[in-house]
Amino acid sequence: MKKENFEIYLQPKVYLNQNDPPCAEALIRWNHPTEGLICPSDFISLFEKNGKVCRLDLYVFEKVCELLHTRSQNKKDIFPVSVNLSKAHLNSENMEFIDKIISLKKKYEIPDGMLEIEMTESIMIEDSQLPAIKKMIDAFHRNGILCSLDDFGFGFSSLGILKSLDVDVIKLDRKFLIDENEKTWFIVLNFITLAHGLGMKTVAEGVEDRNQVDCLRTAECDMVQGYFYGKPMPISDFIQWYETRRDNL
Ligand code: C2E
Ligand code: MG
Ligand code: MG
Repeated sequence: MKKENFEIYLQPKVYLNQNDPPCAEALIRWNHPTEGLICPSDFISLFEKNGKVCRLDLYVFEKVCELLHTRSQNKKDIFPVSVNLSKAHLNSENMEFIDKIISLKKKYEIPDGMLEIEMTESIMIEDSQLPAIKKMIDAFHRNGILCSLDDFGFGFSSLGILKSLDVDVIKLDRKFLIDENEKTWFIVLNFITLAHGLGMKTVAEGVEDRNQVDCLRTAECDMVQGYFYGKPMPISDFIQWYETRRDNL
């Protein structure tokens, strides 16, 4: 696994009911020497089996820290970025990745609230892992790193997780918006109310058209992410997109 073959893409996350500048999610791409650009769905599960995903996640996190650090050094504003964390990390006995993530944030002097760790709902399928996950979330919070639950709503143990885990953000699964109907919007609206009642922010994923944006705004969803605002893009393209949007707010 050569690091130079991996490229970080950023996808916009946009606020709906407030005029704050956008945020981003970091998504990895594999620039394969013969196969071309490969999307994570085609290699993450393989990397989870062979353990390489742990190094990859830390690499993505460090690259994001480097980017924000460089912008700060150049007196440019910085934007919050979320990074995905594989469930494979939880298999390690000592969970040393937690300290590694925290020390990278310190090394690159990233202010609190600028970094977020996304964990998919499927990370917590086993109850026995909950204490370790709680410890991890506490450690991140103590060090100014936010935590989100990714792809929420189509897994198995959703509501139990909300009771147990003190996450900051819930990302509603893109599947909600596929073949949407009246039921979809009833679930989404009530889910957003539930999340807000628990003090959590909401992000809707997979937003592709204006009608969805309007419905989500009415439902008071905090942020949206999807092709409607922007696909995942190379960092330089994202910066251009970000600065134009920020300046037009
Ligand atoms: P995710 O974290 O839920 O990321 C969102 C995925 O939805 C991305 O797919 C993004 O391209 C796609 N997406 C966003 N908006 C839309 C839309 O409007 N329509 C459609 N059809 N798709 C949309 P991507 O980049 O292929 O990533 C797939 C998954 O791979 C991610 O899902 C995440 O679970 C995983 N992944 C990506 N990068 C990393 C990484 O650095 N580390 C780990 N552990 N997993 C990663
Ligand atoms: Mg994600
Ligand atoms: Mg997701």
